[in-house]
Amino acid sequence: MKFNTHKKKPTLQYFLVTLIISIFALSCQYCNPTNADNKVDNRSAKDSSKSKSVVAKKDTISKAHLLGKITPSKDTNFAAIDAKYAAKSGNYMRKEAYAAFIKMFNAAKKDGITLCILSSTRTFWEQKGIWEGKWTGRSLYYGKNIATSYPDPVERSKYVLKYSSMPGTSRHHWGTDIDMNSMELAYYKTETGEKFYNWLTKNAAVYGFYQPYTAKDSARTSGYEEEKWHWSYLPLSSEFIKQYKERITYNDLKGFEGYETAVKIDVIKNYVLSVNSKCK
Ligand SMILES: [Zn+2]
Repeated sequence: MKFNTHKKKPTLQYFLVTLIISIFALSCQYCNPTNADNKVDNRSAKDSSKSKSVVAKKDTISKAHLLGKITPSKDTNFAAIDAKYAAKSGNYMRKEAYAAFIKMFNAAKKDGITLCILSSTRTFWEQKGIWEGKWTGRSLYYGKNIATSYPDPVERSKYVLKYSSMPGTSRHHWGTDIDMNSMELAYYKTETGEKFYNWLTKNAAVYGFYQPYTAKDSARTSGYEEEKWHWSYLPLSSEFIKQYKERITYNDLKGFEGYETAVKIDVIKNYVLSVNSKCK
């Protein structure tokens, strides 16, 4: 027993001493790195808290959303537009923008103006169809075959860009923008067209809608021609344009005929970002 006790005691002491030494050794070995880690953690926590809102927004608005590589019918951010508001079925808008549009529609109706959506969200692939049709001459653009009228690719792209966007650069990708009533310039010279446009100019902002492509002036020197039919829900689209500016590069603008002209024209600066100053 004694022998055993003696034998047991040193074992216990040995165990305790070893434990204390180990704890001490461990704390010595890791205290600085732990502190350093804490510093890093604190710093990264600070950084992430600082960038959290941006990250959250970036998560909400994916690059695919900025470029229109989306399927609105399967995307929970989007709502299908009721037939009574649109010229054709199959239109989608971001839910918040759609709710604002309905309020604007009802207000306009009370004033005797009917708002009718002609086009809303368009995907990258839909825009590619429109763009390539014009660019290749498969579809006539204001009565012209652009491929033969403008053999130079840059000049051809610039001509198409008067009113049509390159795939990946259209505000229609975002689900925030709509074309209404008529895309014919002549309509805006009629009494109905004038009333429609004047009503929007006076009232649309109340509902969050603005005209991004106003007439060119000293504040908007480049980009698309004036589009009195195109209105944008600014509470959302202002964030889209901001993120587009920060995150999209010419490497993202590929996969369509004439894409190589995008960088030569500097489409992002001269078209996407060249909007009415209120829409920036
Ligand atoms: Zn438009």
